[in-house]
Amino acid sequence: MEIQAPLRSKVSSIQLVSLVLSRHWKKFGNALCNQQLISDLQDLETNGLEISKPVKTVRKVGLMYIMGDNLGAHTISELSQSFSSGLICRWCKASYTEVCKDACAYRDCRDDLWTREDYDRLASEAVATGDEIDGVKGHCAFNKLRSFHCIGQLPPC
Ligand SMILES: [Zn+2]
Repeated sequence: MEIQAPLRSKVSSIQLVSLVLSRHWKKFGNALCNQQLISDLQDLETNGLEISKPVKTVRKVGLMYIMGDNLGAHTISELSQSFSSGLICRWCKASYTEVCKDACAYRDCRDDLWTREDYDRLASEAVATGDEIDGVKGHCAFNKLRSFHCIGQLPPC
C-alpha cells in the first residue's frame, strides 16, 4: 500500500470511476456493467501505470477495497439483496435472525468467517443450479482481478 495513510480517506483522494443507472444494472448485471472498469483494472494489474515524477517509473496497481452500503456491497458480491433472512455480512456468517431478531451484538464480526473457498464453491454451485445457495447467487465480477476478492475486501457487517 503506497497511498500515505492520511490521504486514504480524504474525499479529494477518492475518484469516481463509474456511474450506472440502477435499471441498467438490474437489466445487464454486474459483469456487463463493470466490464470496462474490470478490463482497465486488469490492465493496471498487468502492465501498471507509468508515473513520470519525481522519477519515471511503472507501478503495478491493484484494487484494494470497494466501499459501499450493505445493499451495494451485496449487489457487487452477488449475495442476496434480501436482508430479511439469511446471511448479512461479507466477512462473517452473521445472520439476520441472530442479529435482528435475537438481538445478538458483536463488537466485531463473528468468529465464523467466510473464506474465499466457501464463497467460490457456493457461487459455482449457484451458477450450475441457477439457484441462490446460502445467500450466494453467483460469482462477483471483480473476483476476476488478481488483487481483489469480494470476501474480505468489501465492508463488514
Ligand atoms: Zn460480519
